[in-house]
Amino acid sequence: MAGPGTEMKAVVLDGPGSFQARPLPIPEPRGDEVLCRVMSVAICGSDPKIVKGATRPTWPPSYPFVIGHEWAGEVVGGSADLAASQAAKFRPGTRVAGEAHKGCGSCENCLRGRYNLCLDYGNEAAGHRHYGFTSQGAYAEYIAVSIQALHLLPDAISFDQAAMLDTAGVAVHAVQRGRIGIGDTVVVVGDGPIGILTMQYARTAGAGEVIVVGSGPRLQMARELGATGVDFTDVGGSIDRVVTLTGGMGADVVFECAGIRSSCEQSVMMVRKGGRLVMVGNPIEPATIPWGKVSLDEIELIGCRANPNVSDRALRLISTGVIRVEGLITHNFPLDDFGEALATFVEQRDGAMKVVVNP
Ligand SMILES: [Zn+2]
Ligand SMILES: [Zn+2]
Repeated sequence: MAGPGTEMKAVVLDGPGSFQARPLPIPEPRGDEVLCRVMSVAICGSDPKIVKGATRPTWPPSYPFVIGHEWAGEVVGGSADLAASQAAKFRPGTRVAGEAHKGCGSCENCLRGRYNLCLDYGNEAAGHRHYGFTSQGAYAEYIAVSIQALHLLPDAISFDQAAMLDTAGVAVHAVQRGRIGIGDTVVVVGDGPIGILTMQYARTAGAGEVIVVGSGPRLQMARELGATGVDFTDVGGSIDRVVTLTGGMGADVVFECAGIRSSCEQSVMMVRKGGRLVMVGNPIEPATIPWGKVSLDEIELIGCRANPNVSDRALRLISTGVIRVEGLITHNFPLDDFGEALATFVEQRDGAMKVVVNP
């Protein structure tokens, strides 16, 4: 393999809240892996939680650790074990985007195609990878990745846009889980990148009306992209507004995309009798579910994790312009300024939405 040298720069997490850009050995691709040069990594809502140490000991399992999973870049070279056909498909210079989850490939869930729920989760020896969570991630100049977690990029998509693929895929998976019917009334609670993309995919999937619950410039963006906006800071409360807008019924499908306790609790109250709630957000604090309403109104509660088997569909929708991701990217930073990038994202400085790091 034409080597790029032996050392690379990476943002290394040394403990809760402590990180630094410093040299690390360039990883060696093994088995079905290729080495990729990372061009763009988007900061995900889960990254600041992992940096803080709030998700220990699951993410990361140990220190030092490199996080980052929403990335795109180009292939540098493959492992010697790669089959000739695979090596030809992932030639040096091939433009790719990564997927965070790579299942073991042989457990019952992987065999059913549900590799996001791999029963060997976190077991690297069994072949499982969750890049940036339990296996080395992408805030680095290079990453060694299984070809099973790579998607070829259409020419029309830039590396920065392709770094939106993980977020876009989460939204596609959520919409599929929600089984939207033609003309359905849909509510999306949360106006972050996942909420905005879920709203766009819900419209493509046939929703009659999509109501987004949010506030400020993000809610304005949702309106411009075709949603009915409900401002949760208005007096009267967002539950009442949604119920009124849906003729007193509530929505056919509600997507909870904010991931905080109050939004989870409110989302249930916005579902009509016989409707569905897709729980896309992942609150660290436990939320209270009104069990009686869920039972008597036959509300379906649907869990939702990551983006299995949807990346190529999501890429198609982005490259054909059906779904717009460019407006979501508000800031770019070099790898050395990761701290600045993270603070910009967390504090939503200057209207920050998606913050992209370019190693
Ligand atoms: Zn993510
Ligand atoms: Zn598995």
